[in-house]
Amino acid sequence: MLIILDRDGVINEYDGNYICSADDWHPITGSIDAVARLCHAGHRIAIATNQSGIARGFYDVDELDAMHDKLEQLVEAAGGCIDLIAYCPHHPDDHCRCRKPLTGLLGQIQSHYHLDSLAGAIMVGDSRKDLEAAFAADCQPVLVRTGNGTDTERHLDARPIPGAEVAIYDSLSTFTDALLSAEGW
Ligand SMILES: [Mg+2]
Ligand SMILES: [Zn+2]
Repeated sequence: MLIILDRDGVINEYDGNYICSADDWHPITGSIDAVARLCHAGHRIAIATNQSGIARGFYDVDELDAMHDKLEQLVEAAGGCIDLIAYCPHHPDDHCRCRKPLTGLLGQIQSHYHLDSLAGAIMVGDSRKDLEAAFAADCQPVLVRTGNGTDTERHLDARPIPGAEVAIYDSLSTFTDALLSAEGW
């Protein structure tokens, strides 16, 4: 199965402030191991992440690459592999087509795997933007309660995404436990 992950608040700690360097990039406990366990079970892992901090001048592409080198090295050391990291470097005012909740990043991932659609894929995120992008791209949306997740869950109760069935887990690690358990999820 193809599993697409948001980055901030799903894989790494996120408190609403921009993460501007590799030194400030800290994995959520259990998240690296979760990615490795998913890989080991035969799933493919790609990341779709909004990084408007680039357009805002908070960090540059070299620093973003350094964050992603750190992430990929941690995952590889745990025995896993990330196939692709698709990121949107634009400002919301740029009106690009890749910034979630639009589906451009997911389209890049679909092209990478030469898929006709993303039906059957899962997208895990902590923000409403992730869930809306997932639903619009035919992925199963999964919300985790790390990062923005508890806030997102509260607002989702008041304003559901029409037609979407959102699965909710405490973390990437507990989602992984459920997906890999004999019962499935
Ligand atoms: Mg996020
Ligand atoms: Zn963009």
